[in-house]
Amino acid sequence: MEQECPYCKSKRIIKNGTTRHGKQNHKCKDCHRQFVSNPRNQPIPVSTKQLVDKLLLERMSLRAIARVAGVSLQWVQSYVNSKSRTIE
Ligand SMILES: [Zn+2]
Repeated sequence: MEQECPYCKSKRIIKNGTTRHGKQNHKCKDCHRQFVSNPRNQPIPVSTKQLVDKLLLERMSLRAIARVAGVSLQWVQSYVNSKSRTIE
């Protein structure tokens, strides 16, 4: 699986030891932030949600939004579903 930085989407990631909980720690060579890979339950950063909100207003297709925002199509669909209930 290809790792990418959750903050800047850079693919220039280096391994940076493990956390005290034994998880693989990574460091981004571009923005120098550290993060722990956790593909099972990856929290979507607020900045990504804001981006998705903007793209939804542009009436982009969900597939395109997922690609641009770097999230799974599945996630976009469930996100839209949860929003449409509140907006209507
Ligand atoms: Zn980065």
